[in-house]
Amino acid sequence: MSGSPSETSSETAQRTVVIVGAGQGGARTAQALRRQGWQGRVLLLGQEPEAPYERPPLSKEVLAEGADPECVPLFKPGQAESQGIELETGVAVTALDTAAKRLSCADGREVAWDALVLATGARPRRLSVPGADLPGVHLLRTAADARALAPELTEGRRVLLVGGGFIGLEVAASARRRGCRVTVVEAAPHLIGRAMGPKISRFLRQLHIEKGVHIRLSGQVSAFEGEERLEGAVLADGTRLPAEVAVVGIGCLAEDSLARAAGIDCDDGVLTDAFCATSAPGVWAVGDCTRHENRWLGRRVRLESWENAELAPQVAARAICGKPEPYAAVPWFWTDQYGLNLQLLGLTAFEGELVWRGTPLEGPAVAFELEHGMVRGAALFDSGRERRPVKQIIESRSRVDPEALADPGVSLRDLAKSLA
Ligand SMILES: Cc1cc2nc3c(=O)[nH]c(=O)nc-3n(C[C@H](O)[C@H](O)[C@H](O)COP(=O)(O)OP(=O)(O)OC[C@H]3O[C@@H](n4cnc5c(N)ncnc54)[C@H](O)[C@@H]3O)c2cc1C
Repeated sequence: MSGSPSETSSETAQRTVVIVGAGQGGARTAQALRRQGWQGRVLLLGQEPEAPYERPPLSKEVLAEGADPECVPLFKPGQAESQGIELETGVAVTALDTAAKRLSCADGREVAWDALVLATGARPRRLSVPGADLPGVHLLRTAADARALAPELTEGRRVLLVGGGFIGLEVAASARRRGCRVTVVEAAPHLIGRAMGPKISRFLRQLHIEKGVHIRLSGQVSAFEGEERLEGAVLADGTRLPAEVAVVGIGCLAEDSLARAAGIDCDDGVLTDAFCATSAPGVWAVGDCTRHENRWLGRRVRLESWENAELAPQVAARAICGKPEPYAAVPWFWTDQYGLNLQLLGLTAFEGELVWRGTPLEGPAVAFELEHGMVRGAALFDSGRERRPVKQIIESRSRVDPEALADPGVSLRDLAKSLA
C-alpha cells in the first residue's frame, strides 16, 4: 500500500502506519510521515525501555566524559504527543503476518497495520569463544550497554578491544581519556579494513599509538579467562593478555529475523528497492536492518550509519504518502577519536589513486580518491567545513584537475561551483 497524490487526507486518516523499532530510523520515520502530511495513526513500537535516542555518543562522550547515554534524544519533550505519534517502549514485536497485515507482540497483543515500516537496526556480533560470558566482557550497542561499560573504565585498568573497527577505536580513545591501559586486537592486517583501507587507516593507527594504545594486528582472541570475572584473554598464537575489561566490537548483523521469518526477501539485511519498499506489499524497511538500493551508488548496500538512519526514513515516508523519490545520496560517515574528526564520503576503500590536500594529524587534510579523473570518494581529517563542497564535487561526476584538489590555495567551494 502506498498513498496516491489523489487521496484525500480523510482517506489516509483512517489508516495506520506501524513502525517496528524505536531507534533513530523508527523515530525519524514517524516524524517524516507527519512532515509529509500523513493524517492517519502512527504507532511506533520499540523494545528498548528508553525513548528513542541517538547512538553515536555512546562510544564517545558517554564513555570519555560520563555523559548521559540518552543525551541526544530523538524527540523533544512533548513532541511525540503533539505530533500524534503513539510511542510505546518496552514492546518487542515477535512475528509478522504480511498477508493479514497484523503483528504479534511479546505481551500477546496483536496489532493491525495498513503500512508497516521495519526499523529494527542491527545487533553486535558475539565472539563465540570460551569465557565470552564472563563479567567484564562487554558489547556496545544500546544505552544499557553503555551504562554497564562506562563505570568499568577506571584509571589504570587494562582494557582490551577485540576488533579495530570504528566502535573498537572510539572506545579505545575514550578509555585512554579515562586513564585506562588499552590494547586493540584486530584480526585483519590493518585497522578499519572494511570501511577505509590501509592508506587512510594508517593515520588512525599512528594516532592511537601516539596516544599510548597498544595495537596488535593479525591477532585473534581464542578465549577469555577468569575465575569470577575477566582476568585476561588468550590469542590464537598462545599469547596471554591480562585485562580486567574487554569490549567486543567485531561488527554487527542486520536485525532482519522478523522479516525473514515472515517470508520477506532478505540477504544479510532486509532487501529494499530505492523507495525502501520490501518484497512484501505495504511493508517498508529503513536503517541498519536493510540492504537497500542507493541510486547514486547504482547498487544495493548495507550501511550502518547515522546518515542512512536519517535519509531512508524520509524516502520511506514520501513513498508511503504517495510522493516517491528514490534514495540517491553519496554515503557519509564520521568518527571522532581524541578530538580528531574523520569524515568519509562515497563509500570507497581508497585503494585507487589518491590526491592529498594537507597532511593528516599535522592539520586539516583531505584525501580525494580519483577514478577516470573524477572524485569518487574523500576522507576529511578535521575538515568538516569542506564536506558540502567535497560532496558536490563527487556528485558532479566531472573530471577535476588534481592540482587544484591538492592546492590549499584553491577554494573547494569555488571548485564545486565551477563543476555544478
Ligand atoms: C556506539 C555506536 C556509535 C556510533 N557512532 C556513529 C558515528 O559516529 N557516525 C555514524 O555515522 N554512525 C554511528 N553509529 C551508527 C548509528 O548510530 C546507527 O547506524 C543508527 O543508530 C541506526 O539506526 P536504526 O534505527 O537503523 O537502528 P537502531 O538505532 O539500532 O534502532 C533499532 C531499534 O529497533 C529495536 N528493535 C529491534 N527488533 C525489535 C523488535 N522485534 N521489536 C521491537 N523493537 C525492536 C532495537 O531494540 C532498537 O532500539 C554508531 C552506532 C553505535 C552503536
